[in-house]
Amino acid sequence: MSACVFCRIVAGQIPSTRVYEDDLVLAFMDIGQVNPGHVLVAVKPHVDNVYALDDAAAAAVARATARVARAIRAAFQPAGLSVYQANGAAAGQTVFHYHVHLVPRHDGDGMAFTWPVKNPPREVLEAHAAQIRAQLG
Ligand code: AMP
Ligand code: ZN
Repeated sequence: MSACVFCRIVAGQIPSTRVYEDDLVLAFMDIGQVNPGHVLVAVKPHVDNVYALDDAAAAAVARATARVARAIRAAFQPAGLSVYQANGAAAGQTVFHYHVHLVPRHDGDGMAFTWPVKNPPREVLEAHAAQIRAQLG
């Protein structure tokens, strides 16, 4: 069994609250985020960081990120949306499997990135994910 937590999520060995899936990408709710709509878009095959991302995977992540971003906007109408990724420990990466953070920003919500924060109950994540999935069609 892989030691990588996101590989185990992709393989279905660790539960996740899934938002979007295609051949190369899995998007799921960030378990450490309590506000509506915080989503991670991960490439399915194990890739440590942006330096190891091939063109097909890069394109797939970008396409999925844009689609999920539009769905988050439709579901939650945030004032803004941060798209964030950490590459390398010095940049704050803690899970060394390439992924993008989609972070809705609401009025009064600053730009400080404070991962991880409180663990929301799974039913809260599931409710948020259902709202996003409904907008993905
Ligand atoms: P980073 O620190 O940029 O590498 O992002 C890793 C993110 O993965 C953090 O925001 C964590 O909250 C999140 N995370 C870690 N484990 C899980 C999990 N099992 N399910 C969902 N999100 C997770
Ligand atoms: Zn992995």
